[in-house]
Amino acid sequence: MSARISWTAGVPAGASASTSTPLGDCNTCAGETPAVQDIRALLATIPDPEIPAISIVDLGIVRAVRDDCVIITPTYSGCPATHFIEQSIRNALDEAGFRHVRIETTLSPPWTSDWISDEGHEKLRAYGIAPPPRGAVSASLRNDTHAQCPRCGSMNTAEISRFGSTPCKALWRCNACAEPFDRFKCH
Ligand SMILES: [Zn+2]
Repeated sequence: MSARISWTAGVPAGASASTSTPLGDCNTCAGETPAVQDIRALLATIPDPEIPAISIVDLGIVRAVRDDCVIITPTYSGCPATHFIEQSIRNALDEAGFRHVRIETTLSPPWTSDWISDEGHEKLRAYGIAPPPRGAVSASLRNDTHAQCPRCGSMNTAEISRFGSTPCKALWRCNACAEPFDRFKCH
């Protein structure tokens, strides 16, 4: 590898200690190295295997990117797509010359559909999948969430099955236009 990146002890030369980079959601971290920016751009090109219209970054499963490590949180602990996503990331990193970058999985804090980006919401809707409402975790405890039909926009909808085409989606039907649609499960 060329050009070792001097990012030891979390504090780059010339920066005060108070600007150390926290681990976590680093989308707005200042002082990202070019390598981190390249890795982040690479990840944004990897589609979710179940919903190819959105990337794994849109989905919010990429929790942190460092120059030696990518940390992901799967959407659903039993989701069979998780292994496939890890393999896709591995292949993309290897092909781009980032063989030294590890992939780590963390289950805490658990993924929530609130982590889906605004862009991800738009892409889901355009793809015909009802995006989850913001704050869905607390709403679903009251069991009064309603999905908006991604085709006609009606709120007159009903859940047909907890299990849609994949474990991460539920099958719903719109009473206004009579079309079934997938809805991202809230958890
Ligand atoms: Zn409809």
